[in-house]
Amino acid sequence: MKILIVEDEEKLAKSIKKGLEKEGHAADYVLDGESAQTRIELHHEDYDLVILDLMLPKRDGLVVCQNIREKNLTIPILVLTAKGDVNDKIEVLDKGADDYLVKPFSFEELMARIRALMRRPTEALPIELKLKTLTLNTSTRKVYRNGKEINLTLKEFNLLEYLMRHPNQVLTREQILSNLWDFDFDSFSNIIDVHIKNLRKKIDTGNGQKLLETIYGVGYRIKG
Ligand code: CA
Repeated sequence: MKILIVEDEEKLAKSIKKGLEKEGHAADYVLDGESAQTRIELHHEDYDLVILDLMLPKRDGLVVCQNIREKNLTIPILVLTAKGDVNDKIEVLDKGADDYLVKPFSFEELMARIRALMRRPTEALPIELKLKTLTLNTSTRKVYRNGKEINLTLKEFNLLEYLMRHPNQVLTREQILSNLWDFDFDSFSNIIDVHIKNLRKKIDTGNGQKLLETIYGVGYRIKG
Protein backbone atom coordinates (compact mmCIF):
# COMPACT_ATOMS: atom_id res chain seq x y z
CA MET A 1 0.00 0.00 0.00
CA LYS A 2 1.02 3.58 -0.50
CA ILE A 3 -0.05 6.13 2.08
CA LEU A 4 0.02 9.92 2.18
CA ILE A 5 0.61 11.42 5.62
CA VAL A 6 -0.55 15.00 6.22
CA GLU A 7 0.93 16.24 9.47
CA ASP A 8 2.61 19.51 10.37
CA GLU A 9 4.64 18.05 13.22
CA GLU A 10 7.45 16.80 11.05
CA LYS A 11 8.81 14.53 13.74
CA LEU A 12 5.51 12.71 14.02
CA ALA A 13 5.09 12.55 10.23
CA LYS A 14 8.55 11.02 9.91
CA SER A 15 7.94 8.47 12.62
CA ILE A 16 4.61 7.37 11.07
CA LYS A 17 6.34 7.09 7.70
CA LYS A 18 9.10 5.00 9.19
CA GLY A 19 6.62 2.72 10.94
CA LEU A 20 4.58 2.21 7.80
CA GLU A 21 7.70 1.40 5.80
CA LYS A 22 8.64 -1.18 8.38
CA GLU A 23 5.26 -2.82 7.73
CA GLY A 24 6.06 -2.98 4.03
CA HIS A 25 4.13 0.09 2.84
CA ALA A 26 5.38 3.14 0.99
CA ALA A 27 4.60 6.55 2.49
CA ASP A 28 5.06 10.24 1.72
CA TYR A 29 4.25 13.18 3.89
CA VAL A 30 3.30 16.82 3.40
CA LEU A 31 3.31 19.44 6.13
CA ASP A 32 0.36 21.76 5.43
CA GLY A 33 -3.23 21.68 4.27
CA GLU A 34 -2.69 23.45 0.98
CA SER A 35 0.03 21.08 -0.22
CA ALA A 36 -2.08 18.20 0.99
CA GLN A 37 -5.02 19.20 -1.14
CA THR A 38 -2.87 19.79 -4.21
CA ARG A 39 -1.09 16.49 -3.76
CA ILE A 40 -4.34 14.56 -3.34
CA GLU A 41 -6.06 16.25 -6.28
CA LEU A 42 -3.16 15.60 -8.63
CA HIS A 43 -1.93 12.26 -7.34
CA HIS A 44 -4.83 10.50 -5.59
CA GLU A 45 -4.46 7.52 -7.91
CA ASP A 46 -1.00 6.90 -6.51
CA TYR A 47 -2.26 6.51 -2.95
CA ASP A 48 -4.40 3.95 -1.18
CA LEU A 49 -5.05 6.01 1.91
CA VAL A 50 -4.56 9.48 3.41
CA ILE A 51 -3.73 10.02 7.07
CA LEU A 52 -4.90 13.58 7.74
CA ASP A 53 -4.18 15.74 10.76
CA LEU A 54 -6.82 18.41 11.43
CA MET A 55 -4.92 21.38 12.87
CA LEU A 56 -2.72 22.31 9.93
CA PRO A 57 -1.07 25.47 8.68
CA LYS A 58 -2.49 27.14 5.55
CA ARG A 59 -5.68 25.05 5.39
CA ASP A 60 -7.60 23.20 8.05
CA GLY A 61 -7.72 19.42 7.70
CA LEU A 62 -11.52 19.34 7.77
CA VAL A 63 -11.66 21.83 4.91
CA VAL A 64 -9.19 19.70 2.95
CA CYS A 65 -11.34 16.65 3.60
CA GLN A 66 -14.51 18.41 2.51
CA ASN A 67 -12.90 19.83 -0.65
CA ILE A 68 -11.58 16.40 -1.62
CA ARG A 69 -15.03 14.86 -1.27
CA GLU A 70 -16.63 17.70 -3.22
CA LYS A 71 -14.37 16.74 -6.10
CA ASN A 72 -15.77 13.20 -5.85
CA LEU A 73 -12.46 11.69 -4.86
CA THR A 74 -13.18 8.53 -2.86
CA ILE A 75 -9.72 7.85 -1.46
CA PRO A 76 -10.01 6.59 2.16
CA ILE A 77 -9.18 9.27 4.74
CA LEU A 78 -8.17 8.55 8.31
CA VAL A 79 -8.25 11.71 10.40
CA LEU A 80 -5.92 12.40 13.33
CA THR A 81 -7.31 14.76 15.92
CA ALA A 82 -5.91 16.22 19.07
CA LYS A 83 -8.47 16.30 21.85
CA GLY A 84 -10.59 19.41 21.44
CA ASP A 85 -9.90 19.89 17.70
CA VAL A 86 -13.49 19.03 16.89
CA ASN A 87 -16.70 18.86 18.85
CA ASP A 88 -17.36 15.26 18.11
CA LYS A 89 -16.54 12.54 15.69
CA ILE A 90 -19.80 13.06 13.80
CA GLU A 91 -18.42 16.35 12.48
CA VAL A 92 -15.31 14.59 11.17
CA LEU A 93 -17.28 11.85 9.50
CA ASP A 94 -19.79 14.37 8.13
CA LYS A 95 -17.00 16.10 6.25
CA GLY A 96 -16.20 12.84 4.51
CA ALA A 97 -13.54 11.17 6.63
CA ASP A 98 -13.74 7.38 6.88
CA ASP A 99 -12.43 7.09 10.41
CA TYR A 100 -10.60 9.06 13.04
CA LEU A 101 -8.03 8.55 15.73
CA VAL A 102 -7.44 10.77 18.77
CA LYS A 103 -3.88 11.81 19.61
CA PRO A 104 -1.85 10.50 21.28
CA PHE A 105 -2.25 7.06 19.76
CA SER A 106 -0.08 4.00 19.59
CA PHE A 107 1.34 2.84 16.29
CA GLU A 108 -0.43 -0.51 16.76
CA GLU A 109 -3.73 1.33 17.01
CA LEU A 110 -2.97 3.27 13.85
CA MET A 111 -2.11 0.07 11.97
CA ALA A 112 -5.31 -1.60 13.17
CA ARG A 113 -7.40 1.33 11.88
CA ILE A 114 -5.59 1.24 8.55
CA ARG A 115 -6.18 -2.50 8.19
CA ALA A 116 -9.85 -2.06 9.04
CA LEU A 117 -10.23 0.70 6.45
CA MET A 118 -8.55 -1.39 3.80
CA ARG A 119 -10.89 -4.29 4.54
CA ARG A 120 -13.98 -2.23 3.83
CA PRO A 121 -16.11 -3.93 1.17
CA THR A 122 -16.22 -0.72 -0.92
CA GLU A 123 -12.69 -1.59 -1.96
CA ALA A 124 -13.90 -4.93 -3.35
CA LEU A 125 -10.47 -5.97 -4.50
CA PRO A 126 -10.13 -9.66 -5.30
CA ILE A 127 -8.10 -11.64 -2.80
CA GLU A 128 -6.75 -14.15 -5.28
CA LEU A 129 -5.30 -12.90 -8.53
CA LYS A 130 -4.83 -15.54 -11.22
CA LEU A 131 -3.02 -15.42 -14.52
CA LYS A 132 -2.51 -18.67 -16.41
CA THR A 133 -0.53 -20.85 -13.98
CA LEU A 134 0.46 -17.94 -11.74
CA THR A 135 -1.56 -17.25 -8.59
CA LEU A 136 -1.12 -14.47 -6.07
CA ASN A 137 -3.09 -14.31 -2.83
CA THR A 138 -3.26 -10.80 -1.44
CA SER A 139 -4.37 -11.90 2.01
CA THR A 140 -1.91 -14.75 2.68
CA ARG A 141 0.69 -12.92 0.54
CA LYS A 142 1.67 -16.20 -1.14
CA VAL A 143 2.53 -16.70 -4.77
CA TYR A 144 2.35 -19.95 -6.72
CA ARG A 145 3.49 -20.89 -10.21
CA ASN A 146 2.37 -24.28 -11.52
CA GLY A 147 1.20 -25.05 -7.99
CA LYS A 148 4.66 -24.49 -6.52
CA GLU A 149 5.14 -21.76 -3.95
CA ILE A 150 7.51 -18.95 -4.90
CA ASN A 151 9.22 -16.86 -2.25
CA LEU A 152 9.25 -13.18 -3.05
CA THR A 153 10.59 -10.20 -1.16
CA LEU A 154 8.06 -7.60 -0.07
CA LYS A 155 8.89 -5.26 -2.94
CA GLU A 156 8.79 -8.09 -5.49
CA PHE A 157 5.42 -9.14 -4.14
CA ASN A 158 4.03 -5.60 -4.34
CA LEU A 159 5.41 -5.20 -7.85
CA LEU A 160 3.86 -8.48 -9.00
CA GLU A 161 0.53 -7.60 -7.41
CA TYR A 162 0.53 -4.26 -9.19
CA LEU A 163 1.31 -5.91 -12.54
CA MET A 164 -1.32 -8.62 -12.00
CA ARG A 165 -3.97 -6.03 -11.19
CA HIS A 166 -3.32 -4.61 -14.67
CA PRO A 167 -2.98 -7.72 -16.83
CA ASN A 168 -1.99 -7.29 -20.49
CA GLN A 169 -1.43 -3.60 -19.90
CA VAL A 170 1.95 -2.02 -20.49
CA LEU A 171 2.99 -0.22 -17.34
CA THR A 172 5.68 2.41 -17.62
CA ARG A 173 8.53 2.74 -15.14
CA GLU A 174 7.00 6.05 -14.05
CA GLN A 175 3.67 4.39 -13.27
CA ILE A 176 5.37 1.64 -11.32
CA LEU A 177 7.55 4.11 -9.44
CA SER A 178 4.69 6.39 -8.53
CA ASN A 179 2.57 3.50 -7.29
CA LEU A 180 5.14 1.55 -5.35
CA TRP A 181 7.87 3.94 -4.35
CA ASP A 182 8.04 7.21 -2.48
CA PHE A 183 7.16 10.42 -4.25
CA ASP A 184 10.70 11.73 -4.14
CA PHE A 185 12.32 8.55 -5.32
CA ASP A 186 14.94 9.12 -7.99
CA SER A 187 13.19 8.12 -11.19
CA PHE A 188 16.47 7.76 -13.04
CA SER A 189 17.61 4.90 -10.89
CA ASN A 190 17.36 1.39 -12.23
CA ILE A 191 15.66 0.02 -9.15
CA ILE A 192 12.60 -1.20 -11.07
CA ASP A 193 14.70 -3.00 -13.65
CA VAL A 194 16.55 -4.78 -10.88
CA HIS A 195 13.34 -5.88 -9.16
CA ILE A 196 11.81 -6.97 -12.47
CA LYS A 197 14.90 -9.01 -13.27
CA ASN A 198 14.70 -10.80 -9.92
CA LEU A 199 10.97 -11.28 -10.20
CA ARG A 200 11.31 -12.74 -13.68
CA LYS A 201 13.95 -15.16 -12.49
CA LYS A 202 11.59 -16.39 -9.79
CA ILE A 203 8.32 -16.65 -11.68
CA ASP A 204 9.37 -17.35 -15.27
CA THR A 205 12.69 -19.19 -15.34
CA GLY A 206 12.10 -22.90 -15.90
CA ASN A 207 8.34 -22.51 -15.70
CA GLY A 208 7.28 -22.82 -19.34
CA GLN A 209 5.51 -19.90 -20.93
CA LYS A 210 7.02 -16.54 -20.03
CA LEU A 211 4.48 -14.20 -18.47
CA LEU A 212 6.54 -11.10 -17.69
CA GLU A 213 7.42 -9.09 -20.77
CA THR A 214 9.71 -6.14 -21.29
CA ILE A 215 8.42 -3.64 -23.79
CA TYR A 216 11.64 -1.94 -24.79
CA GLY A 217 11.76 1.76 -24.17
CA VAL A 218 8.28 1.72 -22.59
CA GLY A 219 7.93 -0.53 -19.61
CA TYR A 220 6.62 -3.91 -18.53
CA ARG A 221 3.58 -6.08 -19.01
CA ILE A 222 2.30 -9.29 -17.56
CA LYS A 223 0.44 -11.44 -20.08
CA GLY A 224 -2.73 -13.34 -19.27
CA1 CA B 1 -1.30 19.60 13.73
